[in-house]
Amino acid sequence: MLLVSSDVTLFFFFLNSTFDVVVVGGGIVGLASARELILRHPSLTFSVLEKEKELACHQSGRNSGVIHSGIYYTPGSLKAKLCVQGAALCYEYCDQKGIPYKQCGKLIVAVEQEEIPRLKALYERGLLNNVRDLKLISAKEIQAKEPFCRGVMALDSPYTGIVNYRQVALSYAEDFQEVGGAVLTDFEVTNLEMAKESPSESEDGIKYPVVVRNSKGEEIRCQHIVTCAGLYSDRLSEISGCSHEPRIVPFRGDYLVLKPEKCYMVKGNIYPVPDPQFPFLGVHFTPRMDGSVWLGPNAVLAFKREGYKLYDFSARDFIDAVVYSGLWKLVFRNVSYGVSEMYRACFLSAQVKQLQKFIPEVTISDILRGPSGVRAQALDQDGNLVDDFVFDGGTGDIGSRVLHVRNAPSPAATSSLAIAKMIADEVERRFCL
Ligand SMILES: Cc1cc2nc3c(=O)[nH]c(=O)nc-3n(C[C@H](O)[C@H](O)[C@H](O)COP(=O)(O)OP(=O)(O)OC[C@H]3O[C@@H](n4cnc5c(N)ncnc54)[C@H](O)[C@@H]3O)c2cc1C
Repeated sequence: MLLVSSDVTLFFFFLNSTFDVVVVGGGIVGLASARELILRHPSLTFSVLEKEKELACHQSGRNSGVIHSGIYYTPGSLKAKLCVQGAALCYEYCDQKGIPYKQCGKLIVAVEQEEIPRLKALYERGLLNNVRDLKLISAKEIQAKEPFCRGVMALDSPYTGIVNYRQVALSYAEDFQEVGGAVLTDFEVTNLEMAKESPSESEDGIKYPVVVRNSKGEEIRCQHIVTCAGLYSDRLSEISGCSHEPRIVPFRGDYLVLKPEKCYMVKGNIYPVPDPQFPFLGVHFTPRMDGSVWLGPNAVLAFKREGYKLYDFSARDFIDAVVYSGLWKLVFRNVSYGVSEMYRACFLSAQVKQLQKFIPEVTISDILRGPSGVRAQALDQDGNLVDDFVFDGGTGDIGSRVLHVRNAPSPAATSSLAIAKMIADEVERRFCL
């Protein structure tokens, strides 16, 4: 069973509060990385620090739950490689641990003739990325697979699946704890600095020179620190003197849900043919492990980094986003897309119109507003979405002891085990573990 340190155990935790390596962030990336590191280095001591009372409750617990097969990404890119490897590792891990998943497949459906060349290009891309079992199918074959879906041609990816990523993340945490890792929740890291003197309770204060402080003024010490802080990865990086960029710009994705009595209309994942001019994949139909069907998400600028409601607002987060020139460059390049996403976020009927292109029988009375997630989108100052790893350290002595994972190639839930291997390689290289 997963044991997370609570207030009761906090006292004992602080009696022994030195670690060789501390990982900040109890999302799927931080937990997978902590797990990989402790399995490679069982003689070292490790801890995961998470600001919330529970693990994996932000991006890792609020996503579509799709095990992506790796079709979309530029051949040869890290994103493509990690997704294809990550999906295979994810299935293998779920089999080993008995975590339920469904390999329910995915159709990327062209509803207009003019989309066919783009669909064929995606097929070629998928083949170059070594995605398994891909094939182009006809309108008739679409209906055999998804009787309610209409389209002129589709790309069929039977290897795509669904899983509950929060369950996967909690399982990584269990593995980590079983071999001696410590998980401490309700610990919001607010400061990192080099120790000025040895703590009296530490056997060797010099050995653990990094002081990690939280919002309550409590501290623990370590030799090295790795941060995987998702929506706050840029802010944590700045604490140790890293540059302002890339900035995290939060994009909220709102889902709709099909009423339970209408879920029979969707068997697997149904996606549109993405428009390469726009940064996101478009609204899709996604079956969930609990039998429900989610529709969406859209992508609108969020006014709060962990704000899951339309009107959630944080002055700091808002100002941080709007003063960033990279955001405006992205916005100006995608004005029409941005406006229509905002419009669809406000008006359900507009969202339904999009969905009816694929399943004409869906009506506004079949759907309800559902949950939301906020994506940590790393943006460079030219307004480009950052696709690869961004590792950073910082300045001075502290910079040589910190590894900030400012961006990990998404879909980072699918790729988490492959990403963890790359982060562990980087940790070993930087810190000579
Ligand atoms: C709407 C949506 C749909 C998605 N769909 C899919 C999908 O279908 N398939 C897929 O593979 N991927 C999907 N993704 C992407 C995937 O969910 C993310 O890439 C992945 O969860 C990122 O994990 P993470 O650990 O980096 O971030 P997070 O899960 O956000 O974890 C970061 C953690 O750091 C903690 N933290 C932050 N600051 C501090 C601090 N100062 N001190 C201590 N702790 C801190 C946070 O509380 C959080 O728990 C989706 C994402 C979204 C938003």
